[in-house]
Amino acid sequence: MTVDHERLTAHLSRLKLTAIRDQLDTLLDEAARKDLNLREALAFLCEAEVARKDQRRIRMGTAIARFPTVRTLDGFDFGAQPSIDPKLIRELATGRWIANGDTLLLLGPPGVGKTHLAIALGRQAILHRHTVLFAPATGLVTDLTKAHRDGRLEDKLAFYTKPKLLIIEELGYLPFEPNAAHLFFQLVSRRYERGSTLVTSNRNVTEWGTVFGDNVVATAILDRLLHHSHVVTIRGDSYRLREKRRSGLLRADDTNNHQ
Ligand code: ADP
Ligand code: MG
Repeated sequence: MTVDHERLTAHLSRLKLTAIRDQLDTLLDEAARKDLNLREALAFLCEAEVARKDQRRIRMGTAIARFPTVRTLDGFDFGAQPSIDPKLIRELATGRWIANGDTLLLLGPPGVGKTHLAIALGRQAILHRHTVLFAPATGLVTDLTKAHRDGRLEDKLAFYTKPKLLIIEELGYLPFEPNAAHLFFQLVSRRYERGSTLVTSNRNVTEWGTVFGDNVVATAILDRLLHHSHVVTIRGDSYRLREKRRSGLLRADDTNNHQ
């Protein structure tokens, strides 16, 4: 049977099998060289296609997530952070908690790896086909406040409710205005039992009343956030300071200086 090459590539285009289409000769040569039977060759072609589609999805998902930097779980030194159970992080990396719509709180002092883990787990979520958005808490609150003022609150709430995983970064570095706390409460209520939320904070949950400037609102927010939740409390020294100390830039007792 003779195969019309143009017809074949047209079929592959129509089926959107672009990786197979673009690398057809190379893939077929390789299949022949490996002496694959028909079933094996089909599996081999499918793998090439799936790999390309995964790559594209991950690239797009990562761009949409707006991570501030690239951080991975492989790049996290668990030996340096004995207060974290690597088994728990590995379990969280499966993304099951996101499928369940759970909340994850990463709490601890500055520099202990909260942001690193938040980005790394966000990346894992994308690998598991979840949509992710990384939002600094102050930016998020400013955004909601502005939208509220301009009569566009509904759109903004929808925007922040859409991602399956919303990462709220550095909650508690600045206290909220009372109105901001109400807006934040509306967002948390919208997302409740719909999407997952990951919050990083240097404040313990007992201090969140101060953060939100209102104990009643704080309780209502916590009630929803903590209903199905995992809390990882990280202790210990700042990783950055540790590295500096190790390289001799800081003395061992010099921990109160700026980083
Ligand atoms: P936090 O958000 O808790 O203030 P970060 O996650 O920003 O801390 O960590 C500060 C810096 O130290 C980042 O560059 C991060 O990648 C790095 N870091 C922190 N902990 C670790 C760790 N255990 N292994 C590798 N890098 C780490
Ligand atoms: Mg941080």
